[in-house]
Amino acid sequence: MQRLGTIALLLALLAVCRLHAATPAAEGGFAGAPAADAAAFDAAFEQSLREGLGGTPAEAAPLIARLRALVPDGDRFRLRRFEAATCSAPRANRREALRHAETLLAAERAEAAPDPTNLALLYLCRGIYRPGNSEPGLVLADYDLAVEQARESGNTLLLGTLLSARAGAQSMNDAFGRALSDALEAQRLLEALGEDALNAIVLQNAGIAYRRMGEYGQAEEYLLRSLALPEIQGNWVYRLITLLQLGYLFEETDRFADARRVIGEALELCTANESRSDCGYARLALASVETRAGAPQRALGVLSQAEADFEASGDPGDPSMVALIRGQALARLGRVQEALPLLDAAIAAWEAESNARYLALALPERSRLYERLGRDREALADLHRFVEVHEQDFRQRSAQRTEFMREQFDASRREIENAELRAREAARLKEISALETARRWQGVALVLGGLLLLVLAGLMARQLARMRRLRLLALTDPLTGLANRRQTEYRGAEAFRLARASGQPFSVLAIDIDHFKRVNDTFGHAVGDLVLQRVGRECQRTLRRLDLMGRIGGEEFCGLLTETANEAALQVAGRLRAGVEALDLGDVAPGLRVTVSVGVAQARATDADFAAVLARADAALYRAKQEGRNRVVSDETT
Ligand code: GH3
Ligand code: MG
Ligand code: MG
Repeated sequence: MQRLGTIALLLALLAVCRLHAATPAAEGGFAGAPAADAAAFDAAFEQSLREGLGGTPAEAAPLIARLRALVPDGDRFRLRRFEAATCSAPRANRREALRHAETLLAAERAEAAPDPTNLALLYLCRGIYRPGNSEPGLVLADYDLAVEQARESGNTLLLGTLLSARAGAQSMNDAFGRALSDALEAQRLLEALGEDALNAIVLQNAGIAYRRMGEYGQAEEYLLRSLALPEIQGNWVYRLITLLQLGYLFEETDRFADARRVIGEALELCTANESRSDCGYARLALASVETRAGAPQRALGVLSQAEADFEASGDPGDPSMVALIRGQALARLGRVQEALPLLDAAIAAWEAESNARYLALALPERSRLYERLGRDREALADLHRFVEVHEQDFRQRSAQRTEFMREQFDASRREIENAELRAREAARLKEISALETARRWQGVALVLGGLLLLVLAGLMARQLARMRRLRLLALTDPLTGLANRRQTEYRGAEAFRLARASGQPFSVLAIDIDHFKRVNDTFGHAVGDLVLQRVGRECQRTLRRLDLMGRIGGEEFCGLLTETANEAALQVAGRLRAGVEALDLGDVAPGLRVTVSVGVAQARATDADFAAVLARADAALYRAKQEGRNRVVSDETT
């Protein structure tokens, strides 16, 4: 279904042009009698940025002619601007368009003072007309150059437009994290400019990117928000895209009734507007929903209609996806022999494209078919391959998510952590289901002999190890919300390895509340718990975002300070100590105050592992206690 998202994005970009092509004679530059003065040209140029230059060469021609007529005689600068602005207008021959872009780009670069706005437009143009399938890297490089020049130009509208375009291109290349960052930056810029129509599309794109990263909650929010905007409401193409995206989202989250409803609305729209290819994609989505919702017979009917739609529209559609869905439906009807060649075709096509995401959908399906046919060896091979592509897909998505989180546009730190936890949880659930499948295969493997058993054992060991690791990662201390001991040790070991590899310093704080037993004895255990929470929060507050604070014992905490040497770590510890001392706990219990002692140790070349560093920090903490408490001691001052 992801493919449809890509197509929807393409549609979204085209729709920018289509919507405005429908109202070319709106007030402003393009309308009325052309007056060849600089201001009129500039206004018309801005409008072309905002509204595009039509959806087809025929629509573009009069718009280009009008803009050309506004170029003042002998104004070489505006002539160049005109050429740059119209470079990416719809053209019949893409290869010629690409050559045209390269010629203009060479000319602009050869100018004594190349104009950043023109360069931005020309890089965009070259990116648009490059053969995207064969060189996605080059396309994105052009978008990067375009955005860079747009920043240089200081034209916010241009920058917002280009960021939005790059978001679309990145999303098509599965770079959802970056797509989202661009989309959200574009949103801020365009919103500030009051560019509602452009902004509406950006919101929609952000929703799509969130969905494809697996952030379903955020995705739904953005898509619903975009659907409520008058700019989307009033344009059937936008509405259709949002409805289909919601359909995919509901399908992916098993909300089949909701999925049927929104896809049904989408079908009404494409039917009313006689867009057969849109109806084809909508029916494809519906067929997938019907299959998954347990109505394979209905799915087959819908698929045939989808194929008829594509046939009538001349759009090739997505034959591999049709094959997969039909194969799934037939398999559910017990027509295994018919299903198998369909899955073979889809899998072969996606292997050729190295499409991990789609392979992860199709391989388990075929494995089950092989199983039913008694072709155990092939079933196991598919399962094995599935684990590989699933891992690859998961790694890609995680990398995207991490990248986006690093940029953190609208998410607070807490939200990021929750999202990470949710992602790990989801990953863990997937692992479990893969493991269950693997277990079923154990019996078969025994029959097939030692070799297969080895493969399976390796597979299961890996899954088990990963599950254990994932479970460890997900553990936080329920009282304080800080990392618990195991996670602190895990993250500490990770930070230790990283520091060793990069040669950066790494320090550890061991923190212990002074005379905490007295707090419990005097005020009771419940108050003690509240104090632990407040002290934990204060400790956390002192650290930088990248550092980690964990609760590693009853009233013992541990801070991990990456890229921090002893001197700086001592300063942090000092601030932390003073912060706790200054804590006003009067609301917890009258007159209550607490202090902490802190031991500091920096990792050394002689440390075998993280535990060794922590042990030295502990030793320093012990000395701090002996020297009278409420103080910081470094293990380097022996
Ligand atoms: P010092 O560290 O300064 O030497 O003295 P202390 O009194 O803090 O020493 P000790 O480590 O012996 O005592 C720690 C106390 O913390 C003992 C235990 O009752 C209490 N404690 C441990 N976990 C919890 C908890 O989760 N909640 C509460 N309220 N108390 C806890
Ligand atoms: Mg203690
Ligand atoms: Mg203590």
